[in-house]
Amino acid sequence: MSDAFQQLQDELNRLNAAYREKLPEKIAALENTWAEVRREPEKTELLENFHLKAHSLAGSGATYGLPDVSAAARKLEQVLKGIIQHTTGGLDQKQDEIQLLFDDLKKVVGELDNDSPPITMPLFDPVPVPVPSSAENTPLRRRSTDYLTPDLPLPQDGPVSAPLEARTAPKKETDKRNIWLIEGEESSRENGGYQLGYFGYEVTRFPNLVQIPEQAFKQLPAAVIINLTDPQKQLNSQDEVAQLHRFNRAEVPLIFISALTDLETRLDAVRKGGKAYLIKPFKTLELVDTLDNFTLPLTPDPYEILIVDDDENAADYYAAVLKTTGMHTRTVNLPTEALKVLSEQNFDLIVMDFHMPGCNGPELAAVIRQQQAYVSIPIVFLSGETDRHQQLAAMDQGGDDFLTKPIAPYHLKSAITNRAHRSRILREYMVRDSLTGLLNHTTTKARLDAEVARARRTSEPLAFAMVDIDHFKRVNDTYGHLAGDGVIKSISRLLRQRLRRTDAIGRYGGEEFAVILPGTDAANAERILNEIRERFSHIQHQSDKMEFTATFSCGVAAYPLYQDAIELNAAADQALYQAKNGGRNRVVVASPN
Ligand code: GH3
Ligand code: MG
Ligand code: MG
Repeated sequence: MSDAFQQLQDELNRLNAAYREKLPEKIAALENTWAEVRREPEKTELLENFHLKAHSLAGSGATYGLPDVSAAARKLEQVLKGIIQHTTGGLDQKQDEIQLLFDDLKKVVGELDNDSPPITMPLFDPVPVPVPSSAENTPLRRRSTDYLTPDLPLPQDGPVSAPLEARTAPKKETDKRNIWLIEGEESSRENGGYQLGYFGYEVTRFPNLVQIPEQAFKQLPAAVIINLTDPQKQLNSQDEVAQLHRFNRAEVPLIFISALTDLETRLDAVRKGGKAYLIKPFKTLELVDTLDNFTLPLTPDPYEILIVDDDENAADYYAAVLKTTGMHTRTVNLPTEALKVLSEQNFDLIVMDFHMPGCNGPELAAVIRQQQAYVSIPIVFLSGETDRHQQLAAMDQGGDDFLTKPIAPYHLKSAITNRAHRSRILREYMVRDSLTGLLNHTTTKARLDAEVARARRTSEPLAFAMVDIDHFKRVNDTYGHLAGDGVIKSISRLLRQRLRRTDAIGRYGGEEFAVILPGTDAANAERILNEIRERFSHIQHQSDKMEFTATFSCGVAAYPLYQDAIELNAAADQALYQAKNGGRNRVVVASPN
């Protein structure tokens, strides 16, 4: 069992013990509510409260490995639900039955042996292990679903412990700038080098997969681009397949480019290990973006998950499971507080309980969905509610998925990861500039507002810098627009590489960038940006005519000297203007007069 697994197991066992300790309290609370219901039977909210508590116990009992408690609570819950929904007789007719069921529940809880060692919480769904019939008595081949079965040994890095994709991808011996282009049957003139040189890539061309000299493999490329003309005629020979395997094993990304758009060809490319498929004709920048994605991976921020559940035990359980996968979680036990928390922080996904006091899950989902800013956050309901109609009604209110309690850790983890991942990609499209991958103008401004507010709260400094490429019009006029784009991309990359994760970098306009440096004063910001400026001025950019260099100018303003986003913006802009007037290729710090 890997460490992460063991940790999760320990944490779940601890939660389980804590839950068992709290059970008598829960029963006492039920007892109270039941007494209230009998005292004032006309008050429907008391009966609803009683139902909610039984429902919650049915769910959490199952979650914490106490099926008998869960079943007894569930029976009680069903009867109460019938009364509330008027599908059965009223409280007067059902009182004795309720009393019997409640006594039964108390008995089951009372019989739990508190001295017994804590139950080992199951990590997996109890999926039956397929038993091969004697006819197919071949060695069992492992499939991905095998990981769901408890009996099979787990791989060293099991599914629960595997953090966000690629994060643990092994470092390989690759040349980050070098790209191999397998030209296939087309003439090399048509393919050209896709002008990748502008963007800092070197292209080595080979006519086909088989004719790559063995010594080339000493230094693997950052990616292989394969031009696919007729899939029938290529890539299927034994030698070619072996070569493809070699790249796949070394985790060198394969990028297919082709004019063919049929599904079969695309499927074939995927099966051969293709990580991307570009349809010709494509823009050079599309190819550059694809390559950048593989060669300049941004370590992804952990997914931020909001858990809304009135039942603390349930919320703790979800949080424990999701945290082991590297996600950040924040828990809200009062549904009414969810909106406040949503306004304070960006979330990739909301996990929401169904039945909650004051405001139920679907209602809360509807309120959240009515706000523009939250339209795209996935909401996943997690509930003991098994009624299909209720589940579907919840989806109508803006839920994206409905998972039924109890849910095994691995299942929870994969359901949440997949949705959070897609949500993140969508959000990135909305907040990032497509040429550079930097934050777009709107998002940068919003970030500045948020960072100023934070600096004010924490009394820390904050620097804001505006960067503008010098004589960029001349660069375009002399070397061409594409070469200009290359310069924009290279400054973006440099900023990304040199600044901290906590800094925000935005493309403010065409050749203008904004940088937000939290916790940094003006003097330090000046030093950092001067270092970047110096580096940038030495980068050799390429055009089809020649290599050339470029420079930028920068204006810096800092909080608290400038008090809000508007002042910071104006001061940095003014300082940038001074830098331009003072001869360019310099950093100027704003100061009053
Ligand atoms: P200065 O040193 O004063 O900043 O001079 P400049 O030429 O850089 O400034 P100006 O504002 O006159 O020109 C900016 C140029 O940037 C004009 C525009 O065509 C070019 N530009 C803006 N966005 C892009 C882009 O995405 N790609 C390319 N290649 N050029 C761009
Ligand atoms: Mg609840
Ligand atoms: Mg400029």
